[in-house]
Amino acid sequence: MKKHNFYAGPSILNEKVIKATADAVLDFAGTGLSLLEVSHRGKEFDAVMAETNQLFKELLDIPAEYEVVFVGGGASMQFCMVPYNMLRTKAAYLDTGTWASKAIKEAKLFGEVDVVASSKDKNYSYIPKNYTIADDVDYFHYTSNNTIYGTEIRKDPDVKARLICDMSSDIFSRPIDISKYDIIYGGAQKNLAPAGVTFAIVRKDALGKVERPIPTMLKYSTHIEKDSMFNTPPVLPIYSALQTLKWYKEMGGVKAMQKLNEEKAAILYNEIDRNRLFVGTAAEEDRSLMNVCFVMKEEYKELEAAFADFAIKERGMMGIKGHRSVGGFRASLYNAMPKSSVEALVAAMQEFEKKH
Ligand code: PLP
Repeated sequence: MKKHNFYAGPSILNEKVIKATADAVLDFAGTGLSLLEVSHRGKEFDAVMAETNQLFKELLDIPAEYEVVFVGGGASMQFCMVPYNMLRTKAAYLDTGTWASKAIKEAKLFGEVDVVASSKDKNYSYIPKNYTIADDVDYFHYTSNNTIYGTEIRKDPDVKARLICDMSSDIFSRPIDISKYDIIYGGAQKNLAPAGVTFAIVRKDALGKVERPIPTMLKYSTHIEKDSMFNTPPVLPIYSALQTLKWYKEMGGVKAMQKLNEEKAAILYNEIDRNRLFVGTAAEEDRSLMNVCFVMKEEYKELEAAFADFAIKERGMMGIKGHRSVGGFRASLYNAMPKSSVEALVAAMQEFEKKH
């Protein structure tokens, strides 16, 4: 039976990317050694790092005053690295889910945090729209895609404050106006690479404004100055990221990915709205293109386990179960998920509806 990968992570990669990574694990760039064994300071890996950085910038149209760094620690480390480097007195945060609230918790260790709005009252099923950001904040932090709850902010916010954003689960899914941001960061493991590498796009002249001493490893400038080689970089995820970036370029870049993502999500949301058995959990105008969350309608609740069983065991819909905070189902449609898998899921939903 064909398996369809709807998991929310650790990572969803294109077949070609997995194959190219596997090849390099066996023989890296004709060295006769595995990618896992060669020196990260050798000319072959140096070239990988340089090309990854260059393609990353090219695909996202990143202006010259920014630098891209690859570090460890996951997006969770960025929750503290951001305020460590950027929070002088006060920052504004938008609370749209578990990850946003974890970022808020860390920021509070460094200064005043104004949580301008929260959608916790409705289990984070919508994006708050009415809030004011004080004029004197150092930055406004938000999470563009709420992986667990299936809500997404798909337009770069129009606010006066400088933006900082956690784009862990929707980077490379659409074009971004980078100039509005001081930092964009994310764990690379959804749309870019296997888990183990974290990216940060940093506006260089926004750094160096806080007075507190910052440990060397937690300073963005350390990693900028050393081209992400201050310490041993995670070579395999970086190599794999390069393969993904090459694939994006071949596919037509982020605009092409956006079109594909809109098509895939529309196919599934249309079915959720049409099908008698299911209902979406996120507010319609805030629906994520990356993580589609849905449950059985109240009157069909007792069919939930049966649908999970049918979809997973009989139709190969892997990872379709929802996060425990929402329940029901979550279909993650990251860039690498083919349209044919979404169509297969819709067919399974229709088949199940006919039987019940
Ligand atoms: N932010 C978002 C939006 C996420 O989806 C995740 C993980 O899924 C994280 C942060 C945490 O990332 P990491 O596990 O790399 O620390």
